[in-house]
Amino acid sequence: MISMNPATGEKIREVEEHTGEDTARLVARSGEAFREWREVPLPGRAALMARAGRVLRESRDEYADLMCLEMGKRIAEARAEVDKCAWVCEFYAEQAETFLAPETIETDAGKSYVRHDPLGPVLAVMPWNFPFWQVFRFAAPALTAGNTGLLKHASNVPGCALAIEDVFRRAGFPEGVFTTLMIPSSLVADVLRNPVVQAATLTGSEPAGMSVASEAGRRLKKTVLELGGSDPFIVLADADLEKTAEGAVTGRTINSGQSCIAAKRFIVEKPVFEAFEAALTRRMGRLTVGDPRDPSVDIGPLARQDLVDELDDQVQRSIRAGAVLLLGGRRREGPGFFYEPTVLTHVTPEMPAFREETFGPVAPLVEAEDPEHALRLANDTDFGLGASIWTGDPARGEALAARIEAGCVFVNGIVKSDPRLPFGGVKRSGYGRELSRAGILEFVNRKTVWIA
Ligand code: NAP
Repeated sequence: MISMNPATGEKIREVEEHTGEDTARLVARSGEAFREWREVPLPGRAALMARAGRVLRESRDEYADLMCLEMGKRIAEARAEVDKCAWVCEFYAEQAETFLAPETIETDAGKSYVRHDPLGPVLAVMPWNFPFWQVFRFAAPALTAGNTGLLKHASNVPGCALAIEDVFRRAGFPEGVFTTLMIPSSLVADVLRNPVVQAATLTGSEPAGMSVASEAGRRLKKTVLELGGSDPFIVLADADLEKTAEGAVTGRTINSGQSCIAAKRFIVEKPVFEAFEAALTRRMGRLTVGDPRDPSVDIGPLARQDLVDELDDQVQRSIRAGAVLLLGGRRREGPGFFYEPTVLTHVTPEMPAFREETFGPVAPLVEAEDPEHALRLANDTDFGLGASIWTGDPARGEALAARIEAGCVFVNGIVKSDPRLPFGGVKRSGYGRELSRAGILEFVNRKTVWIA
């Protein structure tokens, strides 16, 4: 597996892949580790998870540098990501006992209740865009609940994959409780077929999700899928336009635009359309693009050359379909995988910038006649991950939130993940939830016990 520095296009390292035999051995070891790990009382597992949080905080800069180098994450965002991973470890270390406490239910029994037992080895297929966070938000609840984890990380971040395995080793987790498999996606089906593996979670694109879910389905194994999104960002006529435009830029350009919950369609009510368009374009035009290690830079490179090509293709097809380019619309010359901050206006539902997920700093503006039309446009998508609504009247925003088809809706705030809140999608954005109590319950056996 080869990693490249997206800021320069140079090769960083090559990591040897596991063979089919290596993989089978590591999966078997995960099964053996599970038998012992499940017997460790919950406070013991939670204490180790808290230690993983400490390891992350102690080596924050080292891990942040790695993310910056391997996928071009801006250094400030990379450091914040390591801190957030530490938070999710600490959160589950503190809360797991409450979340997993047996639930007593009154029945005809002398005593009846629901226990929360682990399932076994869980395969996690993860993407490169938040190379630490995506893995920890799976691993912190799943491992604390007593499962073991098998990570198949994205092929362009092998250094991060190995570093994460090392976090658990340094924290003192027994060998085999968390294992990185260095395998291409073509070997994922073999792992799913292995009877030792009990369940799978995938964060990534729809094709990858469909492939993993169908293979797991053939073996009757549970899956959780966190797929793409094309989150609407609705601006109502009574919104504070400057504050909203500020939120729009942050919401769109977080992680250089490569976030599943980035704002991807700006749906703006007619009376304020032109004013918002101007405010957004002005702010997008001020963003600096460059070296992700430079703290003054706003937008780093995209993670791979093919992602730049795909994004540019979506922009050009949208322009050919009638969208008007107000800013950017091209890659940056020179080495590295950079794309200029871009604003497209007069975007309509049949255009790629509306229909498809755009994974980069591209802001498509769509005009809505009124709030009802804005709602119809917001829901006119195959995706359903997040949404945000901006208004001077939070109660109005709340009423609209109830009618949005998405896993979460934020009113007067950008969509973000938080260990305390459930995270996941509906429609083609996937199913199941991560984070919060809902997340830890995805990979447990809710076992009913009935005693006469
Ligand atoms: P991707 O190509 O689907 O890759 C994600 C992971 O799936 C990688 O580990 C990849 O391995 C693996 N994979 C790809 N095809 C597979 C297949 N047929 N069978 C089994 N595994 C397969 O997606 P990406 O381009 O890395 O990530 C971007 C996508 O992820 C976007 O759509 C984004 O919205 C979504 N995402 C969603 C969330 C969420 O929480 N909902 C969060 C972040 C990202 P290789 O690298 O070896 O191909």
